[in-house]
Amino acid sequence: MRGSILEKYGLTHLNVTHVSQQFWCERQVELSLECPREDTAATLAGQEIHKEYLLELMRETEVATLTADDAAYVLLLNIRNGLEQLMSEGITRELYVFGRAAGFPIAGIIDELSLKDGHVVILDHKTRLRPTLPPPPSVKPTEIQVMLYRKLLEDVRNGDYTYEDFIADTGLKEGGAISDELRGQLGSEGMAVEDGSVARLAREVFEQFTSLPQLSDFLIVRYIHQERGDHIGDKAILYDSRFLTHKLAHAGQFWEGQRKAARAGFREKWKCNYCEYKESLCMARPGAESAP
Ligand code: SF4
Repeated sequence: MRGSILEKYGLTHLNVTHVSQQFWCERQVELSLECPREDTAATLAGQEIHKEYLLELMRETEVATLTADDAAYVLLLNIRNGLEQLMSEGITRELYVFGRAAGFPIAGIIDELSLKDGHVVILDHKTRLRPTLPPPPSVKPTEIQVMLYRKLLEDVRNGDYTYEDFIADTGLKEGGAISDELRGQLGSEGMAVEDGSVARLAREVFEQFTSLPQLSDFLIVRYIHQERGDHIGDKAILYDSRFLTHKLAHAGQFWEGQRKAARAGFREKWKCNYCEYKESLCMARPGAESAP
């Protein structure tokens, strides 16, 4: 990671949305790392709808984590519960996934996984102000996003991303265990903690991933009206691993620091009308290139 954009901004890993949003405007992603975006009414409304969907299927329990081992344990516990729910009830929501892409550790949260005809189907919810499906340029980052989710899930399922990779990427120690405080909180919620070993739980979660059924090649994007909450329509995206590999190689050059961030191209200048960084901030700093 030396000399990479991650090192420059003190990131330990990429998020799936960092990469998918590159395919909207790479310069905007770079500026969001320099000057983090503030939540807008639209993003808050979207978060609210996501939470409602989550609570339809799950009970939310708040626990305080004191250490990195505590945080990793809770994250892994959520994954274990989500995978158990998928296999027993045929559906789960907000499943955290991780792996490597474009040469970097990366993580993301899949909105919904369900079982259909013996396959695991990935679904992502998008909220929209207009009651219509989006035009093709807006779908491009979403295509990358859902394909990337499938790649990460497939990699852990196939053993291409292993427990050892996870330990190396997160820096967790084999002998790490949760704090007594977290053990007490989980116990009071009726959750069995066993020995509280992070490594043991991580191994268990990796075992669960490898026993998942085949993944569907059809990835669903469900559009929901932001104000009314009703269903606008779905788009099915066909997974294409060669296409994704090609796009990730291009994306990786930016994260490696091998090329400058590309701005929205000449025919995409309309995107700047919706951009909080506007062209003044975007153009103020030297370095970015126009997209070809
Ligand atoms: S103003 Fe345009 S080119 Fe600049 S970051 Fe925003 S969308 Fe990209």
